[in-house]
Amino acid sequence: MTAQLEPGLYIVAGPIGNLSDLTPRAAEILRAADVVAVEDSRVSARLLRHAGSDRPMLPYHDHSDERVRARLIERMASESVALLSDAGTPLISDPGYKLVRDARAAGRMVTTAPGPCAAIAAITLSGLPSDRFLFMGFLPSKAKARGDALAEVAGLRATLVFYESGPRCAASLADMASALGDRPAALAREVSKLHETVLDGSLSELAAACAEREPKGEIVIVVAPPGEAPPASEDEVEDALVTALKTMPVSKAAGEVARRFGVDRKALYARALELREAE
Ligand code: SAM
Repeated sequence: MTAQLEPGLYIVAGPIGNLSDLTPRAAEILRAADVVAVEDSRVSARLLRHAGSDRPMLPYHDHSDERVRARLIERMASESVALLSDAGTPLISDPGYKLVRDARAAGRMVTTAPGPCAAIAAITLSGLPSDRFLFMGFLPSKAKARGDALAEVAGLRATLVFYESGPRCAASLADMASALGDRPAALAREVSKLHETVLDGSLSELAAACAEREPKGEIVIVVAPPGEAPPASEDEVEDALVTALKTMPVSKAAGEVARRFGVDRKALYARALELREAE
């Protein structure tokens, strides 16, 4: 038996590959909703069939006519509206933000049936740090805008996550290598589908692999945070100390160089004395 739903908006995550990834709660909502707002009714019809739902669909995009959104918000006063994307979680590089915004502003009940999301699935597969990450969505297609978007996040100590398409992969990865540095990265393809693969390597290695053979299917690129600067070599510290001693007294030179390179001040002071005596 299908439960009656309270009026309001239900954000329903669908599968990103395997239909069985649809959660039982999501399926229940799809069977019970008064109407299901969808991106593409041909794509969603398949999922509704799988869920055993015969509920009517209504096309919705954030750039739909304002009146379409207003009518949906109106309906939410007395009816349950499920929001479904072609794949994964609505609002994540998909329509829904404006609908949620306006539904909340109108005081409608808004809830979610969370589930698959390609970005999260790719992070978990990548083997790259998962403690801090920034979801970048799709990079702009114009080279200048793409470079600007990458430059903006180049210094960020976080794993970066990008959605990408096969034909643009090689160029995007090459741009990432030059804007972010040649960091470790992973390319997750066809996640939760028959041909799920994860390629790892440096950004330039992945760019070369994609240039040689364009990857097919749906793709997420995960890029490691910038590495720590490598520790300074003994020669670099010695050179800096010699330079500092040209203009500073021993104690000050040792202190400044120790702070700059994060090395032991006492040892540096002893070495600075030796250098001064040898002058
Ligand atoms: N809302 C979706 C989500 O929750 O992940 C994303 C929708 S966005 C329009 C589609 C993009 O997500 C694809 O171009 C691809 O970059 C990524 N994507 C979706 N499904 C994927 C999958 N199974 N494997 C890899 N990437 C996927």
